[in-house]
Amino acid sequence: MSLEKICPSCGKSKVEFIGSFCKDCYLGKNKLVEAPRTVEIVRCRQCGKMISGSAEDLVKSKTKTNHEGTVEYAEGKAVYETEIDGVKIRQEFPIEVKIRERLCERCGRIKSGYYEAIIQVRNGKEEEIIKKLENETFITKIEKQKTGVDIYAGRVGAARKTLKKMGLRAPESKKLYGMRKGRNLYRTTFIVR
Ligand SMILES: [Zn+2]
Ligand SMILES: [Zn+2]
Repeated sequence: MSLEKICPSCGKSKVEFIGSFCKDCYLGKNKLVEAPRTVEIVRCRQCGKMISGSAEDLVKSKTKTNHEGTVEYAEGKAVYETEIDGVKIRQEFPIEVKIRERLCERCGRIKSGYYEAIIQVRNGKEEEIIKKLENETFITKIEKQKTGVDIYAGRVGAARKTLKKMGLRAPESKKLYGMRKGRNLYRTTFIVR
């Protein structure tokens, strides 16, 4: 005669067992995973860029597993899966995703009119330069002048790189415009002829 396992906690038999307890009682006594109830993602209200990680990233990083297993995030819930003593376990935890909006660094800088470089385009190639520059940095404003176009660019390094990549010779000059945390801040003007 084979001994039938009986759960000492609830008296059930003929169910899946983990150790000497039935699966339900085992899971009731052992917290395998702790998932957050809410996560808050932060998004730029201007461009929609994710400033925090995605909901999935946050759920995965904030879910603590006390027993090895996988954590996935799908449609408002964390799904934890593992196997103990050959018994497959799957637990779901509903998670409320809150969305907070603010400006990302880039949009904040555009809004405040920040720029590090002015590219004075005097060879008629402004459209091409703008297109290439937009892949590297943000453009704060574009001003038409009698002799060409001035492009105000967020990052001076990106402006220099763009012009160099395009094979344009662009003499540059620097002008001091302020100070931050004890460092001089410069704006650089490039002239493209
Ligand atoms: Zn039981
Ligand atoms: Zn933005």
